Amino acid sequence: MNIIETDKQYIAGTYARFPLQLVSGKGSFVYDETGKEYIDLGTGIAVNAFGVGDEAWKSAVIAQLDKIQHTSNLYYSEPCALLAKELCMRTGLKKVFFSNSGAEANECAIKAARKHGELKKGKDHFVIITLKNSFHGRTITTLSATGQDVFHEHFTPMTDGFVHAVANDIDDMRALVKAHKCCGIMIELVQGEGGVTALDTAYVKQVESLAKENDLLLIVDEVQTGNGRTGSLYAFQDYGITPDVVTTAKGLGGGLPIGATMLGERAETLFTAGLNGSTFGGNPVACAGALNILGRIDDKLLEEVKEKSAYIFATLGSAKGVKSVTGKGLMIGVETEKDASEVIKNCMARGVLVIKAKNKVRLLPALNIPFETLKKAIEILKEEIEK
Ligand SMILES: *Cc1c(COP(=O)(O)O)cnc(C)c1O
Repeated sequence: MNIIETDKQYIAGTYARFPLQLVSGKGSFVYDETGKEYIDLGTGIAVNAFGVGDEAWKSAVIAQLDKIQHTSNLYYSEPCALLAKELCMRTGLKKVFFSNSGAEANECAIKAARKHGELKKGKDHFVIITLKNSFHGRTITTLSATGQDVFHEHFTPMTDGFVHAVANDIDDMRALVKAHKCCGIMIELVQGEGGVTALDTAYVKQVESLAKENDLLLIVDEVQTGNGRTGSLYAFQDYGITPDVVTTAKGLGGGLPIGATMLGERAETLFTAGLNGSTFGGNPVACAGALNILGRIDDKLLEEVKEKSAYIFATLGSAKGVKSVTGKGLMIGVETEKDASEVIKNCMARGVLVIKAKNKVRLLPALNIPFETLKKAIEILKEEIEK
């Protein structure tokens, strides 16, 4: 039995996989079992921030593996403490809770908001406002937070305490703040799974004011936008806001599972011993890798991310058959006249991997993809869109 058949027989049917098995890679190139080469513009959904087999990241991971692979949170461990320090120094947030995924990072943020509500206004203030078309994860509670009904089907009842506002409509959010006993607001600054659309800066600033005026915790879900993806270390820094809680995951680990919930001044004391925990959270190998990744997301790299972004927007924005190019940095959605799935399939046949978000072709290349490699892939994508 080949791997695709084995997978279909034994893996739970939750994934509609592409008919492609990836076995190895180097940088922005990945290879299937026949040795066919692909330029990877998907990076495992914004996870392999520096591509595949990055030497510096690998060395950091292997060095830690040679020391100790897991400690549990019963003991202190250096990589976890140093990574938390680095995250705080570079964001202005004060404390970090580590977990293993985006959904878990958001669960922790939701707990923070609920406790904040209880302390400030009483136990009945537990409602969190999120946005329509958002995506916050696959646990029952983060699904409740997710403002897309399609994800709720079959799993009701959802966790209580989430209402969804129309994005970029401050009056709608104001009305929800008035109508419900709220404790927090949670937003993605660029909605990823929802179709790669960036929120308006003015709106985001109004949301920030609304949260402060009403003493609600402002949570920014940077699971996908974080770690250099949008051209700043975290997207909130470019929007010029000060969130109370920032969550991240995907690119932070450079390929290993990690989630982080960063707590600002208004949230840093909410968690005391026993209020949250994770067996794997803060795993030293994942943290050592993340520390290497974070240390290399500097101003020079971020400038390159912006330059590559501008190139993609300019090249595809003017292409025939493109209806719109949206997103920020190297998190880009391309709305095409042709069916996006068709474009994706044809690109794959020609050795370029791109993925999908809603009806769009989605691009999430490695932050350090060489310009020539990017150009080659974008030219092929452009041809397939124009064809
Ligand atoms: C991917 C994603 C999540 C969920 O992350 P997992 O690691 O799959 O749990 C949550 N929020 C956003 C914005 C995401 O893009």
